[in-house]
Amino acid sequence: MKIGVLALQGAVAEHIRMIEQAGAEGVAVKKTEQLAELDGIIIPGGESTTIGKLMRKYGFLDALKQFAAEGKGVFGTCAGLIIVADQIAGGDEPHLQLMNMTVARNAFGRQRESFETDLPVKGIDEPIRAVFIRAPLIRAVGPEVEILSTYNDEIVAAKQGNVLATSFHPELTDDYRLHSYFADMIRAARS
Ligand code: GLN
Repeated sequence: MKIGVLALQGAVAEHIRMIEQAGAEGVAVKKTEQLAELDGIIIPGGESTTIGKLMRKYGFLDALKQFAAEGKGVFGTCAGLIIVADQIAGGDEPHLQLMNMTVARNAFGRQRESFETDLPVKGIDEPIRAVFIRAPLIRAVGPEVEILSTYNDEIVAAKQGNVLATSFHPELTDDYRLHSYFADMIRAARS
């Protein structure tokens, strides 16, 4: 299995390391032509407005909509969660609209700009270590969306078919179980 990490801006190398620990091949993706050889892609954390603009510039908006429509896996983390959302509260920056949800950027306020916590996630046995950095929150979801995790009653992880999204960074710890979960999701979608 080959999983790409969109490498236009943001935390790329850490995700590749986690993909490989989860037993798949990880590749940095800079051109749309690379998508044909992939089973899934991770859209990393970073700055969602910058990532969205670069995606539009390099043709990734249409290419990744097509990629997802073919049933391949898409996993958005932090800024990547904003990119896969249907609606961004108060914003209209370029994004993919792959998951029926409304997200709010930088939703934890200044005092809690970044923090770590142990978070129970549906489908994963023990809580995972989650790192939140100027993180977005999922404010509302449609009926197709399965909520996988909440923090203080707010939604921080969700899944819709072959698309996965987390508010936090799962790649900044030694815990690669969410990357394994994503690989399992891709296998399930294929069969
Ligand atoms: N605050 C960033 C944004 O709105 C996301 C932060 C992150 O990816 N760590 O795009």
